[in-house]
Amino acid sequence: MKQRYSFLRLAREAFTGNKGWEPAWQDAEPRASYDVVIVGGGGHGLATAYYLTKVHGVRSVAVLEKGYIGGGNSGRNTQVSRSNYFYPVSSSFYDRSLQLYESLARELNFNVMLSQRGLIALAHSEHELELTRRWVNGIRMNGVDAEELSAAEIGRRVPILNLRSRYPVLGGFTQARAGISRHDAVIWAFARAASAGGADIVQGCEVTGLRRDGERIVGVETSRGSIAAERVLLSVAGHSSVLAGMAGLRLPLTTMALQAMVTEPVKPILDTVVLSGAIHTYVSQSDRGEIVIGGGADVYNSYSQRGSLALFRNTVAATLELFPCFSRLKIMRQWAGAVDVTPDTSPIMGLTPVRGLYLSCGWGTGGYKAIPAGGETMAYTVVNDRPHPLIGAFSLDRFEQGALIDEGAAAGVAH
Ligand SMILES: Cc1cc2nc3c(=O)[nH]c(=O)nc-3n(C[C@H](O)[C@H](O)[C@H](O)COP(=O)(O)OP(=O)(O)OC[C@H]3O[C@@H](n4cnc5c(N)ncnc54)[C@H](O)[C@@H]3O)c2cc1C
Repeated sequence: MKQRYSFLRLAREAFTGNKGWEPAWQDAEPRASYDVVIVGGGGHGLATAYYLTKVHGVRSVAVLEKGYIGGGNSGRNTQVSRSNYFYPVSSSFYDRSLQLYESLARELNFNVMLSQRGLIALAHSEHELELTRRWVNGIRMNGVDAEELSAAEIGRRVPILNLRSRYPVLGGFTQARAGISRHDAVIWAFARAASAGGADIVQGCEVTGLRRDGERIVGVETSRGSIAAERVLLSVAGHSSVLAGMAGLRLPLTTMALQAMVTEPVKPILDTVVLSGAIHTYVSQSDRGEIVIGGGADVYNSYSQRGSLALFRNTVAATLELFPCFSRLKIMRQWAGAVDVTPDTSPIMGLTPVRGLYLSCGWGTGGYKAIPAGGETMAYTVVNDRPHPLIGAFSLDRFEQGALIDEGAAAGVAH
């Protein structure tokens, strides 16, 4: 990075009218050819570009984004990171990601505002409590932190939570290292670092076709002309089935809207993330004081970035059952993203039957937490043309072999 961010730099700019800041990344014009073209300027595309330049020394990389970087799900999510997954393959991958998040601000010289405030998952029935115990045991056997909590302990930690609503809280569990970070900062940090490493970030460039020569990918067609490429990575979230279809591939994905909302800001009142998978709501408080509320995905397929009113109402109703004191807060904003969900709610990462074409998709409702490790492992995969050891199990052919990794429960909210 040409210009390092530091306290000294901030102080100097404060006294000189903030005239010395350079753009965080270069908005590039597309070139005629690249070694690697990444389609999609979300967190996964940008992180992959960063690790390609930083770890593997690949300089000829372009990230092609049809709108603006972070305009997809990476800038629309509720920012929760955690690694409380059940199966060892998921657990080691997501915990690697959380570890990378823990040192990301230092590594990228950008304050991503990681706040490891913990997450509490609630259990509302004896059945759920039993599953929670099994889940906690599984997580701990994977070497990841998790702790069972009694209802009384949850009440002590979150005094504003109504333990005796229509959905009584019987207990739950926490992962103390879970938390939130600032999603825009994560996007901008990876964009800045990738750009400094030599990657071209091209905004306003829609990929409209994939060029093949027999079984090999040879480039992409875009709204700004043809671009030749030896390797192409698709990391386009809710549009993955559309893009893969351009190469003749059918993916086991459904796309639906997932929505979130924030209230007006209030003084600090909630210092952890609270999640109820049974009644589909999860809540945290942002640094600005807003209550950030997420829920389940819409129940019908759509590529639109707008959620339905019915689901919005259900999410608000579920939240107010648990937090009656929020009933007077005004909702300031509500929005949605188009998420790509696989049958086992685990991602699809790795090679495809088309040589030189790679996939990072199926992140569904939970890919924000995976951005650093997703970028790291996909960069390795693209360079070596074989899956990184951490992601071998997430390959596309698991759907042929029946080797599914059913993380439905750990995916956070039902979809
Ligand atoms: C409301 C909501 C809440 C969420 N909450 C969480 C959470 O708390 N924790 C968590 O871990 N995850 C969460 N997620 C999921 C997470 O946001 C996504 O899984 C993750 O951001 C996916 O990143 P990505 O880089 O793959 O995709 P995106 O960030 O969506 O990026 C894909 C990009 O591809 C671009 N694109 C599409 N088609 C083309 C084309 N033809 N040409 C060029 N560019 C194209 C899009 O414009 C987009 O910018 C949430 C998602 C939503 C919608």
